[in-house]
Amino acid sequence: MKATAVAAAAPYIFAQAPKITNAQLGDNLYLLGGAGGNVIARTGADGVVLVDGGLVENADALALAVAALPGSGRIHTLFNTHWHPEQTGSNEKLGTAGATIIAQENTRLWLQQNITWPWNGQKFKKLSKIAQPSKTFYDKGTLDSGIGSSQIRYGYISDAAHTDGDLYVYFPQQNILAVGDAAFGQGWPVVDWWTGGWIGGIVGGLQRIQTVANKDTTIVPAHGPVLSFADIAAQLDMYGTIYDRLNQMLNKGHSPSEGVEAKPAKEYEAKMGNPDEFIRRSFESLWAYLSPDA
Ligand SMILES: [Zn+2]
Repeated sequence: MKATAVAAAAPYIFAQAPKITNAQLGDNLYLLGGAGGNVIARTGADGVVLVDGGLVENADALALAVAALPGSGRIHTLFNTHWHPEQTGSNEKLGTAGATIIAQENTRLWLQQNITWPWNGQKFKKLSKIAQPSKTFYDKGTLDSGIGSSQIRYGYISDAAHTDGDLYVYFPQQNILAVGDAAFGQGWPVVDWWTGGWIGGIVGGLQRIQTVANKDTTIVPAHGPVLSFADIAAQLDMYGTIYDRLNQMLNKGHSPSEGVEAKPAKEYEAKMGNPDEFIRRSFESLWAYLSPDA
């Protein structure tokens, strides 16, 4: 936070390039941190596949970090796990360089329009044509992995866990599953009900992750450390409990503020932190989903 304050006070000084970290997750597979969201890079004879591209201000630093990986090459494919800026910040750079950008069709639709979040007024500008996903799908697809005969599998997380365009990417050879923000590795998730996410979708998304993963899979969220199959089960338990409580309060006619005051995440606060924002937005997401006139 300090760095932000300094940058704001001295706008003519270029921000220092972010430090991009990398950790090897498996053969030819790396987790890059520090770009604003987790990025996965799969290197291979055919070039590099990226899952998510960090924030736009970190795109150059990320590209340099990818180029420095062992066995690196041209980034030929970029996945966007959803439309948020932490995922789509390299789209313009890589789209211009000729990479294929794969996303679920709803993600492309969001990236074609300006978006304003009603809860805080935050604005997001639509992306230029070259930065938009160039290959979209509705349900699932596969991609040559560049290693032997194994194929990268990707698919739609249709439950609207985080947005209505969430996708997963599964690397079977390394048993690594990237899930974007359909699971959070750290703290309470952002409930972006404006573009389709909702608390019921968080529960459904975690169940779906369990069907794609197996007990030895490493699950890579867009934020925070990697997760195990057991971590996903524990999250499912927690969000399922909170979902039930909020549903009951909604059915009794309570408001989001009353929902927050009732502390429906009380026993998880010590581990997870203050849940008020998450609970309020989750409650609102129930309205958005369950109200007949929504
Ligand atoms: Zn997100």
